[in-house]
Amino acid sequence: MSKPTPSPAAPLADNGDGVPPHLFRKAVEQAALAISITDARANILYANGAFQRTTGYGQEEIVGHNESILSYRVTPKLVYETLWAQIQRQRPWNGLLVNKRKDGSRYLADVTITPVVNEDGLTTHYLGMQRDVTEVHRLERQVQNQKTLIESVVDAAQVAIVLLDEKERVLLDNQEYKKLIGDLGKEPAAKLLDAVRTQMGDAYTKAQERHRNIAAREVCIESANRPARWFSCAISWFEEHDVGADAFYEPLRRHYLLLTIQDISELKRQQEALRINSLRALLSEQERIQGLRETLAGAVYQLEGPLNMLSAAAHMLERRLSNQAPASHKSAAESIPASALGEAIQKSREALETLRACIPNESDEALQNVDLNVVLADVLKLTTGSLLGAGIVVEWQPSARPAIVSGHLAQLSNLFKQLISNAIEAVNERRGGRRELRIFCNARPDHIEVFVEDSGPGIAEALRYKVFQPFFTTKGAARQHLGLGLAMAQEMVSRHSGTIDIDPAYHTGCRVRVQLPCVAGGNHV
Ligand code: FAD
Repeated sequence: MSKPTPSPAAPLADNGDGVPPHLFRKAVEQAALAISITDARANILYANGAFQRTTGYGQEEIVGHNESILSYRVTPKLVYETLWAQIQRQRPWNGLLVNKRKDGSRYLADVTITPVVNEDGLTTHYLGMQRDVTEVHRLERQVQNQKTLIESVVDAAQVAIVLLDEKERVLLDNQEYKKLIGDLGKEPAAKLLDAVRTQMGDAYTKAQERHRNIAAREVCIESANRPARWFSCAISWFEEHDVGADAFYEPLRRHYLLLTIQDISELKRQQEALRINSLRALLSEQERIQGLRETLAGAVYQLEGPLNMLSAAAHMLERRLSNQAPASHKSAAESIPASALGEAIQKSREALETLRACIPNESDEALQNVDLNVVLADVLKLTTGSLLGAGIVVEWQPSARPAIVSGHLAQLSNLFKQLISNAIEAVNERRGGRRELRIFCNARPDHIEVFVEDSGPGIAEALRYKVFQPFFTTKGAARQHLGLGLAMAQEMVSRHSGTIDIDPAYHTGCRVRVQLPCVAGGNHV
């Protein structure tokens, strides 16, 4: 009986010894990995095709040579010492060696050496496997260099930069951002993003969904024991392919958020100082014009009284003379005083008209929506020096929601400046006792109410209405008071269709209440 010929698909192990030796040889010869077999001193006994292709040496050229033929002599001695120490302990070694080919060109070899041990436990041979990883290394180094470059640039940037993952965890940050951690506490990015989200509302979610960049959003971070800080935040979203093994065949995208933060507190402080200074200049100009208007109007008013009396007296005189004798019998001496008086009255009227014409026009400031909370805060800033100088404790309570009225900004600012200046003077008048100024703003559904309270001597009940009359003063002309302040305040309030009064029930100083109609729908929640 003839032995059946095994089919090509039959298991090779069927021959009893497992894989036949010639198959091992073929597999090694044809392997894509460069393989060499050496004796115990690294002299090459065999090198496969891939080894020849990698090194440029043919089988005959390399066999009998030591593996050191490949050494380019820049690999540190310590690497070889470690290699030998490891393989002599009969442990495999893996590492990177700089090799040179037959043609002198260099390559980086990822080498694995495995000792081959005989039945007596002695190392008789070594199996060397190597791969040219020059290109991989070049790419790795390039990526590393770029990463280092980007990190250095990001670190050197004068703005804080932070990269966050989808759960807004910090992945990368720079020195400026680290400084913010010291200033704002543990997670400045979270605080700033919250502030941007609150400011933008739905627009933030839309920008995030569409990955639309958000440019230069100015947000304010308040802290209990430090002045408020202002930051300009820019946000960009981008995505990257996941580099994990799981995503090799099924690409996943990771989303990142890049937040750039610029501290603009100093700029804001300068802008604010500039704004307050121009407001101060505007108010003093307004005050000057208003004062001039009131003074001239008052003077015209004061002069009109005696002039009217003089006119009446002239009429009486004229009537008496005409009753005493017919005009033809009037002596020249009698008619001279009457005509002179008439002429004087005429001249006086002309002078009065000239004076009236000199009254400057009211400023043509535009009507706009004005938040009284902002006006009062600004006026308090303007009067900080006087308040500190007088040692007055200020309690300022803005309304919970915006207190919007339709009005003239400068006039309303002047109104409250006048009331606060009055309050400071009143407190200064009282020696000893509390030195307090309280300002409250309440936004009612149809009007805004502002209270200015001081701990001064107060205003006697009998004078509560008189104090609003022009030229009425409780302080006397000697103290350079024209008594126009409250009159002007009342005029400004009237121009805004509001009311101003002094609370009769308030006995521990003076409480002035100003009520102004609010913008329709402007103060509803
Ligand atoms: P040295 O390290 O100073 O050694 C001089 C000689 O002694 C060399 O022949 C060396 O092989 C041998 N030798 C050194 N230490 C011992 C020891 N403890 N026991 C026995 N013999 C020792 N080197 C490369 O640069 N590139 C390679 O691709 C490479 N592949 C290798 C593959 C195998 C399988 C083995 C075993 C070694 C390989 N080596 C390789 C190491 C190489 O043999 C040298 O050690 C190395 O090149 C340093 O050369 P050198 O002239 O400074 O020799």
